[in-house]
Amino acid sequence: MELRFFGAVRTTTGSMHLLTVNGARVLLDCGLFQGKRKEAFERNRSLPFDAARLDAVVLSHAHIDHSGNLPTLRRRGYRGPVFATPATVDLCDIMLRDSAHLQTRDLEFVNKRRQQQGKKLFEPLYELEDVEGIMAQFAPVGYEEPREVAPGVAVALHDAGHILGSAVVEIEARENGAAHKLLFTGDLGRPGMPIVRDPVVVRGAETLITESTYGNRLHPPEADVRAKLAGLVNETCKLRSKLVIPAFSVGRTQQLLYYLDSLHAAGQICRLPVYVDSPLSTRATEVHERHTECFDQETLARIRRGDSPFAFPALHFTADVEESKALNARPGPMVIISASGMCEAGRILHHLSNTISDADNTVLFVGFQAESTLGRYLIEGHRTVRIFGEEHRVRARIAKINALSGHADRDELLAYFGAMGEPPRRAFVVHGEIGNAEALAAALRQRGMPDVTIPEVGQAFTL
Ligand SMILES: [Zn+2]
Repeated sequence: MELRFFGAVRTTTGSMHLLTVNGARVLLDCGLFQGKRKEAFERNRSLPFDAARLDAVVLSHAHIDHSGNLPTLRRRGYRGPVFATPATVDLCDIMLRDSAHLQTRDLEFVNKRRQQQGKKLFEPLYELEDVEGIMAQFAPVGYEEPREVAPGVAVALHDAGHILGSAVVEIEARENGAAHKLLFTGDLGRPGMPIVRDPVVVRGAETLITESTYGNRLHPPEADVRAKLAGLVNETCKLRSKLVIPAFSVGRTQQLLYYLDSLHAAGQICRLPVYVDSPLSTRATEVHERHTECFDQETLARIRRGDSPFAFPALHFTADVEESKALNARPGPMVIISASGMCEAGRILHHLSNTISDADNTVLFVGFQAESTLGRYLIEGHRTVRIFGEEHRVRARIAKINALSGHADRDELLAYFGAMGEPPRRAFVVHGEIGNAEALAAALRQRGMPDVTIPEVGQAFTL
């Protein structure tokens, strides 16, 4: 059998690996590569294999860097199943539609320029009909329900504790009478995070494919989140100002609601209105409410007591653009949670342009900010920024909470591997910038895994 790595190789986006067993081709993840526009445009379009000849796709979770290129498979002729947990199916339904919309909008911008230059216009990467096509091919598989996905290839999904519905993928492959067990971590979550359960440890894998996003970093303790968030909210009340939080729609927004609700219930923060102002975040929260089968005991107990973390009295989901705009004129105190998480697009831009020049307001970052994004400029302390082509003085306080990461840090990754029993004979380190991948690879060798590889794009290995 052969394992070939196509994406999230020496980087964190575009997760995509191909396993071939007895001639059956099983694709693990089909993520969108995100990076410089031109490179992303070309890489996402040119699939490195014949999509029509795949036998099955197994999806670890719904994040767009793992699922976002699925509609391209459909566009290139793939008609087979996409195996994923039921929560992942529902999240993909909203996220891939949103992605198709963004692709179209992005391309309109590019094509307008090309038309002026007399150049040939580009086709969209995919459109809504491709999303609808691939969604009809999804085959939901519950956690801990092994399923044969192709002849000789059985898969079991276990909770990865990363986002709602996320899975570590256990694969049992049979070839020439011999069985081989692989474990693909997808994105591995962390113990003790709100809403989702802790990652499930899978024992006995011979080959490990692991992420390494934070292979060289340690997260601050979770208690920091509560203390820091409470401090910022209470100050917002005192100053009657606005606390603006750019947040990813799936996972991070719901975590924030969870913390705000529990701080409130514990009497640790003042009562102030909390607005979730992003259509995708609102829909993602609705998907969370439908999938209580993914919740941890603590969240379930709260819901049984009649205290849903996604519905507290001061919480409002804005209904439309008019209501979103009306927030500008409304006096504080208030919390506004909006997307996109890196301030690249979406309603967050309106809120920032409206609040950022007032020293009483706070902008709070709760997630990773990639290079060259507005979010990154703000945390780097730029004193003026451009929003919608206009310069704004940054007078608001810029705050950051680092402890909310959905990825295991170095010690959490190593603790997970340590609990797997006999160390895997072979490990492949993917989904991390090279420094993180190398640090994790070195730590794995030190802990008794002699054969650890950081693959190159397109590199194939015989197992
Ligand atoms: Zn993820």
